[in-house]
Amino acid sequence: MFSYDFSQGNKDMRDLLGGKGANLAEMTNLGLPVPPGFTITTKACQVYLETGKEPPGLTDEVTAHLATIERARGKTLGDPADPLLVSVRSGAKFSMPGMMDTVLNIGLTDDSVHGLAAQANDERFAWDSYRRLLQMFGKTVLGIDGERFESALEDAKQARNAEHDVDLDAEDLRDLVAAYKRIVQEETGKEFPQDPREQLDAAIRAVFESWNAPRAVTYRRQERIPGDLGTAVNVVAMVFGNLGAGSGTGVAFTRDPASGARGIYGDYLSNAQGEDVVAGIRNTVPLTELARLDQTSYHQLLDIMATLEGHYRDLCDIEFTIERGKLWMLQTRVGKRTAAAAFRIATQLVDEGLIDEDEALRRVDGHQLAQLMFPRFDDRGRRRRISRGMNASPGAAVGRAVFDNATAVEWARSGESVILVRRETNPDDLEGMIAARGILTSRGGKTSHAAVVARGMGKTCVCGAEELDVDTVGRRFTGPGGVEVHEGDVISIDGTSGEVFLGEVPVVDSPVVRYFEGDLDPRAADADELVRAVDRIMRLADARRRLDVRANADSPADATRARSMGAHGIGLCRTEHMFLGERRTHVERLILAEGDEEREKALAALLPPQRDDFIGIFAAMDGMPVTVRLLDPPLHEFLPDLTELSVRVAVARERGEVDPDDVRLLRAVRRLHEENPMLGLRGVRLGLLVPGLFTMQVRAIAEAAVARIEAGGDPRVEVMIPLVGAVQELELIRDEARAAIDDVQERAGVALSIPVGTMIELPRAALTAGRIARAAEFFSFGTNDLTQTAWGFSRDDVEGAFFSAYLEKGIFGVSPFESLDAEGVGRLVRIACEEGRAARPDLKVGVCGEHGGDPASVHFFHEVGLDYVSCSPFRVPVARVEAGRAAVLASADAGDESR
Ligand code: PEP
Ligand code: MG
Repeated sequence: MFSYDFSQGNKDMRDLLGGKGANLAEMTNLGLPVPPGFTITTKACQVYLETGKEPPGLTDEVTAHLATIERARGKTLGDPADPLLVSVRSGAKFSMPGMMDTVLNIGLTDDSVHGLAAQANDERFAWDSYRRLLQMFGKTVLGIDGERFESALEDAKQARNAEHDVDLDAEDLRDLVAAYKRIVQEETGKEFPQDPREQLDAAIRAVFESWNAPRAVTYRRQERIPGDLGTAVNVVAMVFGNLGAGSGTGVAFTRDPASGARGIYGDYLSNAQGEDVVAGIRNTVPLTELARLDQTSYHQLLDIMATLEGHYRDLCDIEFTIERGKLWMLQTRVGKRTAAAAFRIATQLVDEGLIDEDEALRRVDGHQLAQLMFPRFDDRGRRRRISRGMNASPGAAVGRAVFDNATAVEWARSGESVILVRRETNPDDLEGMIAARGILTSRGGKTSHAAVVARGMGKTCVCGAEELDVDTVGRRFTGPGGVEVHEGDVISIDGTSGEVFLGEVPVVDSPVVRYFEGDLDPRAADADELVRAVDRIMRLADARRRLDVRANADSPADATRARSMGAHGIGLCRTEHMFLGERRTHVERLILAEGDEEREKALAALLPPQRDDFIGIFAAMDGMPVTVRLLDPPLHEFLPDLTELSVRVAVARERGEVDPDDVRLLRAVRRLHEENPMLGLRGVRLGLLVPGLFTMQVRAIAEAAVARIEAGGDPRVEVMIPLVGAVQELELIRDEARAAIDDVQERAGVALSIPVGTMIELPRAALTAGRIARAAEFFSFGTNDLTQTAWGFSRDDVEGAFFSAYLEKGIFGVSPFESLDAEGVGRLVRIACEEGRAARPDLKVGVCGEHGGDPASVHFFHEVGLDYVSCSPFRVPVARVEAGRAAVLASADAGDESR
């Protein structure tokens, strides 16, 4: 069977019937007034796309379904006296807005147009319906450039001096039909088909084929929708909202999709068809107006909305049409909503007894929570909106407009907040983007260079604000209504909504962040409903999750912040900042040291300040694990820049004032210079080649632990070795670390328990994890380096250089540095986890790459069975909520299987 009458399907048949068809069937079976119709399955589409032919039997099935519709409506398709008309619409399993096609009014012909006019008692309506059919059929089914129809329509309007389509009368539209038919004849060499069934079959084929339209293919690649699913096709009896004042069309939501508040939300347009609402030819009225216009239909609609919400147990959105006083439901689906509404609705539905708590957790996600955590513009602030573009990277940014890289960098250096405004950005703009508070472009979509790089940097970005004319040479842009913004003028951009404002709009902290930071009490009588909802969901997530959540933090302030965000420890404390600032001179001395004594002196100077840093961090995380990673970056990162130093020495030579220290330093910088520092002398390799370096760090760690114990604290320290590729590297450093720890505890007379483990961030480490686990007490996946080395992508270069092109070409749907590439890098993680645990069953395994805070990646890590994820403090709540969701989703799946 390749097709289902609406009475034969249900909402759980999305795979076969697509989202729209499944929901139409569900509404039909609920007894709601859905026009009769049927759905041709995605399977039929797959067969058609594979073989180029309709599957066997489909034609007969369509004939039988059509007969059912004809009986129900008491009309025959295309009957000259009283035609049944049908619509043919695509409807895939996953919504692909605007990607595929629709044809309305099938069944109209030169004859039946008169029948329609007589039945409707409206000539104009009949000719307008026919010209709409010709236009949609011509474009979608016959592949004629839509512009040809548009320009014929424009000509008709001009001839009439008419501003809108609605100003054309029946005669104009009849002429337009004739013109459209000529276009069809010219373009295809054939008449527009006058056989209604031929129209129907051709439209069905066209919808099948639209699955493989180039824009649909690209969209799917980007959205990771499998290309072989196919689309279902819905054939539905037409009902008309444009049959006079007693007719109309509207959309409705069962609650406010912006705030989640209960009430009546929607818009209604009298005497119009659905597409007129979209075209915005006339203004809609609020749905409550319908109570005045047609009380019976209004109350019926409210009843239906209550039924749907109770049935779907969620916010539904609805499209409906009233044809001469009779209400028809054309579509429903679980409605899209803002992040704030998602949290509020989920908890409201629990309180209303419609869903349980686990379901509430499934219905929100970490992306939504992240959105709620960005600072935002104060609703009460005065604002003058000048444009709207794409909401490419969320947040609220205010600054002076600058139009080039150099100015962005220069002004930012002098303490100005700047917004970099470009037509589009390219890799040369990287520095300016880093310096700017926000980025605004007039071209490009969500995968443009600006959007990709800004998201990667967590920087606010609005892109593709096409109304703005950006003149980088003149250093200004102009907007609608002649607004001009010159270099230095203040603008505000909202990366969450895509809006651009003139002047400064005040920014406020998100109440959700203030809640996490302990500034807002969700139990207070006047607590914001959103804060309460977030608090409830967070408690639920914490109760359900199996994964622990730690933070990446390397200062006491970050550690404190991480704790308030709910982190249970530090999964990665990088130690590189402990080698910066004034301490750089000690690093220089270490590198320049000639002989053990000089080197030991330099190391000894580095130890105390590090120990103090550790004491602060351990105190802030008292009682929770802190994984300290030994030094990772190559030492030359702590030395002066090669070019700068070469110039300094050359100039000094000219003047005959050479500083011998500079000359030695220059020699060292040259010696340590690397073409590919990311693949050079860093991580464990440094520890092996710079004698005493790691021992000094371990001593500082152990002494800090002793100090904390002596002060009555409870330090839970772990030492982590970076960039290990072979077990032998780890064994050497581990022995050195153990010796240092033993020495400190003996001297202090305090027992220390400090596990030594390793990062797994090279493919070789992942593939030899079984051996490595014998020498490591824990693993932590460094998925940043693991992604870099598995793909051969230089982390610092590729996102700015070519990722936007890769995304546009659909090579991946999201940067693998942002969301773990489960197929490739994830496979390495899985292998290492399994083989590591096989060798050492109590091996603790976590992840500390950026992916630890990415929703999809958190689910992957849950599924692989890691013990914890670690991410930046700000993303800890996102990881908590997603870890909770991963657990309840997994248990729901398991439940499905056992049923
Ligand atoms: C990693 O590689 O994933 C990691 C956490 O280390 P870093 O980013 O410091 O190289
Ligand atoms: Mg790393």
